[in-house]
Amino acid sequence: AKERGRGRWEIFEPELNERAQRRMSDETALGAAIARQEFLLHYQPVVDLRTGAVTGFEALVRWQSPERGLVPPDQFIPLAEETGLINVLGRWVLEEACRQGRLWQLALGDPTLQVAVNVSARQFQQVDLVEQVATVLRTTGLPPASLLLEITETAVMGDPAKAAATMRRLAAHGVRFALDDFGQGYSSLGHLKRFPIDVVKIDKEFVDGLTRNASDAQIVQAVLTMAQALGLEVTAEGIEDHAQLDRLRTLGCNHGQGYLLSRPLPAAAATALLTARTPL
Ligand code: C2E
Ligand code: CA
Ligand code: CA
Ligand code: CA
Repeated sequence: AKERGRGRWEIFEPELNERAQRRMSDETALGAAIARQEFLLHYQPVVDLRTGAVTGFEALVRWQSPERGLVPPDQFIPLAEETGLINVLGRWVLEEACRQGRLWQLALGDPTLQVAVNVSARQFQQVDLVEQVATVLRTTGLPPASLLLEITETAVMGDPAKAAATMRRLAAHGVRFALDDFGQGYSSLGHLKRFPIDVVKIDKEFVDGLTRNASDAQIVQAVLTMAQALGLEVTAEGIEDHAQLDRLRTLGCNHGQGYLLSRPLPAAAATALLTARTPL
């Protein structure tokens, strides 16, 4: 046993060490990037599927790294979550998105333009989240009803009672909620009645399958029917072709996002799109 123990030690220790060290240097790099403010937001238009009008944008964070170029969120959000750095980063995202959203509202004379911000599970558990959001709304002047916080089922299902309480406090300020990636998790829309949700976002996976297989089409249809019964809006994510768009329109889906309509855009390009007022 001793020998096996030693063997294991010899085999695994360098590997563990390497992994721990890589993680530590990644964490240091991410912390430094936050301190140096190397992050920026891209904005993906959310489109009214009936009219083609842009009703708002989802803010999506990117890391502009001097060494690595433009790094997508999938490559740093998980580490930011694990280390807690997401709280600092997320606060910046919230403030920047609200600031930009208010600028657009003033430029267009349209206070109903929506800004959607992703809130991760860890961020959602911060004790001062409600104060943070209230402060950002006050300092940026964005009307609370223009802010849509996107949370996933996993984030609320960890501690449903506490999540519902936090959401109700935020909703009391007038903030709206979207349930992101719907369909990925386990609960039905019925379970979600206890949460003050305004919008359900149908996950890209189901939009992909919508025109290819009957079961995905049935799921999308069921979500739309239930959402209607519960008075919720529905946004379909990841629309990539006209067949999907036509089908979603026919089914009465309110809003859509996807590369077919527009990729996420830098702020200046999003401004140009908005001021052109061309339906997508
Ligand atoms: P998500 O919230 O589900 O965002 C949608 C993702 O799908 C975005 O990827 C978007 O660029 C991409 N997308 C949109 N339309 C299409 C399409 O038609 N086809 C395909 N293939 N993809 C499409 P992105 O920007 O790389 O973000 C990935 C994930 O990172 C997001 O998924 C979200 O979970 C997370 N994330 C992004 N920004 C933030 C943030 O500020 N805070 C937090 N906590 N998470 C964020
Ligand atoms: Ca989202
Ligand atoms: Ca999503
Ligand atoms: Ca997703």
